[in-house]
Amino acid sequence: MALLPILAYPDPRLRRRSLRVDTFDASLDTLIADLCETLRASRGIGLAAPQTGDLRQVLVVDLSDGSAPPEVYVNPEILSRSTPGLVEESCLSVPGVIGNVVRATQLRVRAQSSRGEVFERELDGMHAVCLQHEMDHLAGRLFVDHLSPLRRILIRLRARAANRH
Ligand code: ZN
Repeated sequence: MALLPILAYPDPRLRRRSLRVDTFDASLDTLIADLCETLRASRGIGLAAPQTGDLRQVLVVDLSDGSAPPEVYVNPEILSRSTPGLVEESCLSVPGVIGNVVRATQLRVRAQSSRGEVFERELDGMHAVCLQHEMDHLAGRLFVDHLSPLRRILIRLRARAANRH
């Protein structure tokens, strides 16, 4: 297992769309193990493969505070969503920024396990919010895209300045 570097906004690689996984092999196992280790080390609640430069549709979520292994979602799709709410979000790829985003707080998702088994799951609250945030990464979207245009400009200027140092 290895810690993976996390790409930081506005790195253009964060804007690329990830590809569906159709090979469930040892390289996928390694990616998942590395994502889990990197998530733990970063003390985040979710991490998507493209945040580490790997364009496979894989994400890991851990809302257990480390008391359970992270949940793994390969090729996730949202089947239904409801009950929008305003939630405060942050992102390991946009350090130091917190923003309010409207997200569904009830979600039904279908995904595959690391072995390729299809499962469906009902998620609510932070769990639902976290999954939508990570799925945005798979589509090349970031939570700052949901903020006001002015707020986005300020965040971008600050990120550029930080990357110069
Ligand atoms: Zn994120």
